[in-house]
Amino acid sequence: MKEITSLFGSMVFNDTVMQARLPEDIYKALKKTILQGTHLEQGIADAVANAMKEWAVEKGATHYTHWFQPMTGTTAEKHDSFITPAQDGKIIIEFSGKELVRGESDASSFPSGGLRATFEARGYTVWDITSYAFIKDGTLCIPTAFCSYSGDALDKKTPLLRSMEAIDKQALRILRLFGNTSASRPEAKRVITTVGAEQEYFLIDKDMFLRRPDLIFTGRTLFGARPPKGQELDDHYFGCIKPRVSAFMKELDEELWKLGVYAKTKHNETAPAQHELAPVFTTTNIATDHNQLTMELMKSIANKHGMACLLHEKPFAGVNGSGKHINWSITTDTGVNLLEPGDTPHDNAQFLLFFAAVIKAVDEYQDLMRLSAASAANDHRLGANEAPPAVVSMFIGDELMSILEALESGAAYKGKEKVQMEIGVTALPHFPKDLTDRNRTSPFAFTGNKFEFRMPGSALSVAGPSIVLNTIVAEVLGQFADILESVQNISSKPNDFTAKLAELIKKTFNEHKRIIFNGNNYSNEWIEEAQKRGLSNLKTTVDALPEFISKKSVELFTKHHVFTETEIRSRYGILMEAYCKTLHIEALTIIDLVKRYVAPACVDYQRELVDLFRQKKAYGGFDVSLEEHFLVRITKLSANLLKKLTVLENAVQESPNRKLSETRSGEDLNQILEQAGFCRDRISAAMSELRLIIDELETLVAKKHWPIPTYAEILYSVI
Ligand code: ADP
Ligand code: MG
Repeated sequence: MKEITSLFGSMVFNDTVMQARLPEDIYKALKKTILQGTHLEQGIADAVANAMKEWAVEKGATHYTHWFQPMTGTTAEKHDSFITPAQDGKIIIEFSGKELVRGESDASSFPSGGLRATFEARGYTVWDITSYAFIKDGTLCIPTAFCSYSGDALDKKTPLLRSMEAIDKQALRILRLFGNTSASRPEAKRVITTVGAEQEYFLIDKDMFLRRPDLIFTGRTLFGARPPKGQELDDHYFGCIKPRVSAFMKELDEELWKLGVYAKTKHNETAPAQHELAPVFTTTNIATDHNQLTMELMKSIANKHGMACLLHEKPFAGVNGSGKHINWSITTDTGVNLLEPGDTPHDNAQFLLFFAAVIKAVDEYQDLMRLSAASAANDHRLGANEAPPAVVSMFIGDELMSILEALESGAAYKGKEKVQMEIGVTALPHFPKDLTDRNRTSPFAFTGNKFEFRMPGSALSVAGPSIVLNTIVAEVLGQFADILESVQNISSKPNDFTAKLAELIKKTFNEHKRIIFNGNNYSNEWIEEAQKRGLSNLKTTVDALPEFISKKSVELFTKHHVFTETEIRSRYGILMEAYCKTLHIEALTIIDLVKRYVAPACVDYQRELVDLFRQKKAYGGFDVSLEEHFLVRITKLSANLLKKLTVLENAVQESPNRKLSETRSGEDLNQILEQAGFCRDRISAAMSELRLIIDELETLVAKKHWPIPTYAEILYSVI
């Protein structure tokens, strides 16, 4: 293996490569465009494209693609080769600035939620110059945003970039109030959010995967009895990594490093066959790109190693599900983490203000946080035993809680020593940053200098939850700036400013502390308590999604130019439709499996039992209790199987499944909600009842007749 340092980023057209390969004036002009978001001139684009092509060809690339993130939640690419026919049947290798900056693709097969009528199927991809181009599988990939002919966003990246602009603008207003201009405190010109996305996944043997049509079609097992040994011994968590898995992880790390992804931590997770990879955090839009690449590489590299990587939130019922913990913070371009408590009263006042803004944002927009993690797949995880509940709350730890309480009441904070706290005057007492009692049950936990959002599921794009976090915090920072700007800033009227600031932090804490819960989020008592506090409990995707098109949500997103109202409605339609489609596919899959696999297995085994029963009876004098016992039980369950199958088939038949018009009228949105409700209440419910019968049959039917690998076989398939 090449040394890691030379391997790292070797397939990325990053700043070092640009500096080395671009003429100085071009490099400077490009940097200016990147930093200031100005227009990229044709001549510069041509020069960059040429350098990029030469670099890529040297690295063995033959094709290029505009790489984008449509609403399917995965990434999309259409490859074009660099070749252009020349005279005498020869070719030349070409790549122009126009091809680099803008691509046109037939977008009609990507979900648009009615934004793009079929007669105007064109979609545009536009180079996101804040994200570096890279080579994957011999193809130069250019990260792009994807929009319709009329300029509406059709992807996840565009609104993410817009939300980053929103929080940049509002956070800078706050920083200016604190007068961040001294020598020790260089002026921040930009504020960005950072994300470190911990990715959980399962690895199983490929042969097992291929023998489970439900895994192939739906990503999860639709039935399967509990294995005799699950995760109860906790012997897998952080356990020794098996050689096959280790070889996979090694190759994954190397491939990710080549692409400039800071793959850092890898370990076994709670469930058998479950693992995790955590990268070092980076700017949110880059973290989003990198996480997409990580998921893609996990799948392809697992395949090379004879395994299948399952990214579904809940591949196995009764076994730990997979999440994607989104660690999120706010940082200046000068490297100051705004969610890190500081050493001086000044720093702390600023920290407390940003902290209070997050508290208020999460409380006021808890429904948006919840829906940002909603999907048919994640519904199996949220609220189940190992995952955070569907109720959004915040963990801030006992120390910070006592500090805020002391500030609110004016009483002394009783930490190691007793201190009278005054915002902007006293420094925060030092509390252990690496809080020992890190709360693993909280959906949104403060972990010393960042928040960890644990609701998002393993397959989800980082974009959605980040868009919500960025925008809701931008909104509250904006409100705070409005209030504080009225008293100028700290340097012109220090006393007025600190007084106003203290009042604001106290008021915010007082009004929004109901969202803070430092206890066990998995307990039933908390759900009751949360209800008393008036917190939302949106149990399923169908309950959560309508909040997206609520007046409050539309006002928020349009005010900050993150989504237009049309974009919100289209996305709502896409998400609801995806929910319905997922349930339909699952229903059709389980119906097929029952008819062609489960029922025939029961029939075969019953035939065998009946034959023996008859023969024994014919000879006379033999004990037939065993045959009888199993026959009675299986016959009864088989009849029930048919009954429940029929209920499900009828539900699928009755399902509204209307074709929605392209315009997304109010009526359409009501219809899709009704349809999703039907899918949840009738289809999903019928599937659950059916699986109970199948799971019991699996424990009774002879192994040689049971055609589908069991949980025990799958979960322990990688040795
Ligand atoms: P765990 O939650 O499993 O204890 P760690 O504490 O090691 O894991 O960190 C989890 C993730 O948080 C890592 O991806 C790390 O890079 C990320 N992280 C650390 N600091 C920040 C930050 N300021 N902003 C965003 N993510 C961060
Ligand atoms: Mg974590």
